[in-house]
Amino acid sequence: MKVIKFGGSSLADAIQIRKVCDIIISDPDRRIVVVSAPGKGVNDPVKVTDMLIAAAQAALIEGDEAGLSAMETVIDRYASIARDLGVTEVMEEIAADFRARIRLDRSHPTRFTDAVKAGGEDNSARLTAAYLRTLGCRARYVDPGKAGMILSDDYGNAQILPCAYELLRESLSGFDGVAVFPGFFGRTEAGETVTFPRGGSDITGAILAAAVKADVYENFTDVDYVYSANPHQVKDPKPIPLVTYREMRELSYAGFNVYQEEALLPVFRAGIPVNIRNANNPSCPGTLIVSERSAHESDVRVAGVACDKGFTSIYVNKYLMNREVGFGRKLLQIFEDEGISYEHTPTGIDDMTIIARSEYLSGGTLPRVVSRITAELGADDVQIHEGLSLIVVVGEGMKHAVGVAARATAALSRAGVNISMISQGSSEVSMIFAVDTGDALTGVTALYDALIG
Ligand code: ASP
Repeated sequence: MKVIKFGGSSLADAIQIRKVCDIIISDPDRRIVVVSAPGKGVNDPVKVTDMLIAAAQAALIEGDEAGLSAMETVIDRYASIARDLGVTEVMEEIAADFRARIRLDRSHPTRFTDAVKAGGEDNSARLTAAYLRTLGCRARYVDPGKAGMILSDDYGNAQILPCAYELLRESLSGFDGVAVFPGFFGRTEAGETVTFPRGGSDITGAILAAAVKADVYENFTDVDYVYSANPHQVKDPKPIPLVTYREMRELSYAGFNVYQEEALLPVFRAGIPVNIRNANNPSCPGTLIVSERSAHESDVRVAGVACDKGFTSIYVNKYLMNREVGFGRKLLQIFEDEGISYEHTPTGIDDMTIIARSEYLSGGTLPRVVSRITAELGADDVQIHEGLSLIVVVGEGMKHAVGVAARATAALSRAGVNISMISQGSSEVSMIFAVDTGDALTGVTALYDALIG
């Protein structure tokens, strides 16, 4: 049995939904289908989820009238898709659902916004199920709340609760047609609608695949493969046919957004392979994400090179730091107190550097952190380096290879890129270089050419 998920671009209009439904019915193992809300399409520049967020904002700020009028634009978009698919009868239910959502209680703004946002996926599932039925497929819409998608009450950032898996397994087994399950949301234990972070339909699919112990989780998007570099950064990068969960996690962390990074955990724990495929080119086998590669396949030392900008480094120096037990804890405590999540902490004998995303240090936080480090830890020197990018070279095979770091640093040196920091954990699944953002593209290209191209 396969769990299969379609992203917003695959459901943007009737032409796309027809392709999606052909894919579903071409394989009888495709029994649980997760759908996103319609995304950007040829004639639709805005994702439905963004339209819904704007409608919720309008209702919150300007009141009922403004919310309802913004909602009518969303309803029109569904009506036009339903018309083109010849399933106009489903529109009565869809329009009523959207109008009811925008009239919900607004006393808790994030809860209200989640309930409105969730309508995009919910009604996308009603529409897709209705169209599948016209093709003779026994498809039914599944209500995630009733099916047991029980989530934490972190609105806009929910997590699955452990009890959900068994509930979902029970409610999804025993149906021999196609279950069309809306992505992106579930309900809290108190029964409120709550959503995952953006891109969260990938998480829904991963949870369902783990719950029903699917043979594979097929994640259909709009690219043929995950590529070994971002095509906007490197020309014609090589496709990656096979990648491990850990490699994929590292690549997503550093800017590969083909697959929502939180969506790896449920399938990783259950050991279910994920197949990233293209709904516009279903004959392409796509990228398979698996637990491990065999020895032969491990010949691929470096799977990909990724890069993300927007980092700041805070260098702290104190003479005889190496003898001061607890210095690292006290330094990191300051970051914890300030609510800053840090990314890396390379160290020297008498120095420690903290690299964090610059967005966490804005609005007066950075000067406060610096003065606390000086005052509370007695640091001799604190230096700030803003505008950094991290280039990440990813590959489980690097562990068994000699000289990857030498080739990487030689390539950066030939390209004239100054390295501000190098970090490699002993797992050797990735090697990270911090460089000035102005040098980042040159660095990515140099590393790609030297290690992959
Ligand atoms: N529609 C939601 C979003 O745009 C969730 C998803 O598509 O996965 O983030």
